[in-house]
Amino acid sequence: MKDSILFYSTNLNAEPVIFSEALLKGLAPDKGLYMPEEIPAFTKEEIKSFSNKEYYEIAFEIGRMFLRGQIADDDLLAIVKDAYNYDVPLENVYDNKYVMRLDQGPTASFKDFAARMMGRLMNYYLNKEGRSITILTATSGDTGSAIANAFYGLDNIKVVVLFPETEVTNRQRKQMTPLGRNIRVIAMKGKFDDCQALVKEAFTDPDLDYLKLSSANSINIGRLVPQIVYYFYSFAKLRSGENNEEVIFSIPSGNFGDMMGGIFAKNMGLPVKKFIIATNQNDEFPKFMDIGKYEKIEPSYNCISSAMNVGHPSNLSRLIALYGGVMDEKGSVSQMPDMEKMRKDIFSISIMDDATQQTIKEAFNKHKLILEPHGAVGWKGLMSYLENNKENADQLCVSLETAHPAKFPEKINELLGLDPDLPDSLKGLDEKEEQFDKLDNDYLEFKAYLKERY
Ligand SMILES: *Cc1c(COP(=O)(O)O)cnc(C)c1O
Repeated sequence: MKDSILFYSTNLNAEPVIFSEALLKGLAPDKGLYMPEEIPAFTKEEIKSFSNKEYYEIAFEIGRMFLRGQIADDDLLAIVKDAYNYDVPLENVYDNKYVMRLDQGPTASFKDFAARMMGRLMNYYLNKEGRSITILTATSGDTGSAIANAFYGLDNIKVVVLFPETEVTNRQRKQMTPLGRNIRVIAMKGKFDDCQALVKEAFTDPDLDYLKLSSANSINIGRLVPQIVYYFYSFAKLRSGENNEEVIFSIPSGNFGDMMGGIFAKNMGLPVKKFIIATNQNDEFPKFMDIGKYEKIEPSYNCISSAMNVGHPSNLSRLIALYGGVMDEKGSVSQMPDMEKMRKDIFSISIMDDATQQTIKEAFNKHKLILEPHGAVGWKGLMSYLENNKENADQLCVSLETAHPAKFPEKINELLGLDPDLPDSLKGLDEKEEQFDKLDNDYLEFKAYLKERY
C-alpha cells in the first residue's frame, strides 16, 4: 500500500497526482478526469459499525481513506463536522422502500453535500500553500447556487458561475445572484451544454493561465468523495442486520456525479444489489446500456427535471474507466468497458416528462409522498424496475430525492394543488437584490469579460 492514493487521468495521458493537486486542478492537463489508482475498501465489521455513527462521522471515515497521508485526522474531522450540520431524512414510503431526502442543506439540493466539503478542503490546501484560485463553473441551476453558497466569503477563492439564461428557475437564480463579494454570476444566452463548453475551453486557454482556473463542476474529484457518504449512511441506518442483506439504490441522474458516488461505495464494500440510473428524456446512457453504442444527444432535450438536461454526462468516462474501458472527453470510446458486468450492477431507464408528472401525482395520492421532478424520475425508475423484476419485491430500496419540492413551486402546485412548505434556506429570497451580467454564447466575448475583470 502506498502512503497516499494517487489520481490518474481517464484519458491516460497525464501524470498521476496527489489528492490536493487533483482537487485544485479539477480537470487533468489531458482533459481527462481524475480517478483514484486504488479504491480503498471497508471490512464488513467496519460497515456494521457505521450504524452507530453520525453522518459526519461516516463522512470522516470515508474521507480519510481517500485522503490517506494528505490531511491530519483532526483537520478532516473539523471540516466534515462543519460541513454536515443538517439532517438527512430517510422517509419510509411503504414496506422497506425509502426516499432519502438530500435537500436539507443551505441551497436545498443534494449538491450542497459535495460543495460544502469541497470548498472547505480547497480552502484548507490553499491556505496551507498560501495561494489563490478562480473557480469557473457552469450550472444548470443547482450546482451554481450550491457552489456560490459553499464558497461565499472564502478569501483565497474567486468564483465565476455561468448559467443558461432560460433554463434555471427564479428561485435557483436568486440563490446565487444576491451574494456578491467573491461570487460573480453570468447569464449565458445558450444551453447548459454551451456553458459547459465555454468553461472547458477557458480551462485549456494559456492566455488565462494567470487566473489559476479550477473547476467545481461534478468533474472535480473533490465532489465525488463526499457523494459516497450518503449511500453508506442510508444503508447503515436502514439495514435490518440480516446476513447477505443487499440494497437497491435509484438515482436520478444528469452528469452522473451522484451515481459515481454510489458506484464507488459499492467498490468500497457496500452491499448494493443494483443501481437504477434514471434519466429524463436525455437517454444516451440507457441506450448505450441497451445497444452497446454511445451517442451523445446534441442539443440536449429540455425537460422539467432541468438539472438533468445533459446530453453527454461529464462523469461517464469515470464509469467507463471503472469497468475497464476508455472514453475521452468528447464521448468517443477507444476501449469498450465490460458491458456484461456493467449490466449486472446497473439498470438504466429513461423517464419522459409526462410519466414524471404522473409519478408526482401518484406518489402523493398513494403514499402522501411529495416529490419534485428530479426525485420523481428516480422514484419512477425504481417502481418500473420492481414491476419488471418481481423477485426483488422484498429488497431494501432507497430512492434519492435530490432537491426540495419547494424549489419547484409552480410545478408542484399545478400537479398537487398545494404549496410545499419553504425550508428556512429558501425564505426571504424574493426581497434580495440580484446582481448578474449577461453574455452571448461566444468564447471570445467570455474570455474578454474575464480578462477585463480579473
Ligand atoms: C445535479 C442534479 C441532479 C443530477 O446529478 P448528477 O450528479 O449530475 O447526475 C439531479 N437532481 C438535482 C436536483 C440536481 O441538482
